[in-house]
Amino acid sequence: MPTQKTAAIVLRAFPLREAHKIITFYTPDYGKVKAVAYGVKSPKNKLSGSLELLNHGMLLFNYRENRDLQNLSGFELIDGFDGIRNDFARITYGCYLAELVDAIASEGDANAQVFTLLRNSFQLLEDIQDVPLLARYFEIKFLDLSGYAPQLSICANCGTIVTPAFIQKSPQAKSKTPILHFSVRNGGMLCTNCQNRDTSAFTITPGSSELLKTLRKSELNKLSRIRPSTLNHRELKLILSSFIKYHTERHLKSLTFIESVLEM
Ligand SMILES: [Zn+2]
Repeated sequence: MPTQKTAAIVLRAFPLREAHKIITFYTPDYGKVKAVAYGVKSPKNKLSGSLELLNHGMLLFNYRENRDLQNLSGFELIDGFDGIRNDFARITYGCYLAELVDAIASEGDANAQVFTLLRNSFQLLEDIQDVPLLARYFEIKFLDLSGYAPQLSICANCGTIVTPAFIQKSPQAKSKTPILHFSVRNGGMLCTNCQNRDTSAFTITPGSSELLKTLRKSELNKLSRIRPSTLNHRELKLILSSFIKYHTERHLKSLTFIESVLEM
């Protein structure tokens, strides 16, 4: 049985009977890997401290093709991201990113760019000021890398360039307000001709749409220079989490937790 060695991040840990755990990793070479860590719950086991959620390390496992569960033979810790672990909000967001990858990535579908995005995002999560902005950055980049890229510049229905519609927000308003329509079901923005095709489409400001395009093409190390408004934050959170919910067909537990505890 050949032993494989690959970089890995711990996405999830699940108890298996009294003594063992099933660990889900994300790796650049094999995508998602599920492996059994035998006897890991014993304090004497040398792996017991290194397999914490979000840890980055070198995974050794006995690879067998077409098997749901691989056999874990070692995990050498590289980075435990202490800056994340020491802060309640950061660890919660870290768990959200891990849960998102677990929900969307499939086993055996390797994507080294997703691994790099996750590892670099965890490094930045240790000290970035605007933690929700990092989550939005991760979401759009991860959706793009996973083949779910939402259409932002052209209409998701007819393909024409999207321009804002102008609406009168109230009878007293002196000028009309520009808005754009984002349809989760159609996969992105809708032009003014198609905006009525989805009555549940979200309306967002052009500023939020521009911010999303900026995040899509930004490097992670430029993120701290971006200062979104509260409205930008609210709009991006709403459309991205709705988009993700639509594609994963479930509500992510850690996102529910963020909404109920951190965003009160
Ligand atoms: Zn259209």
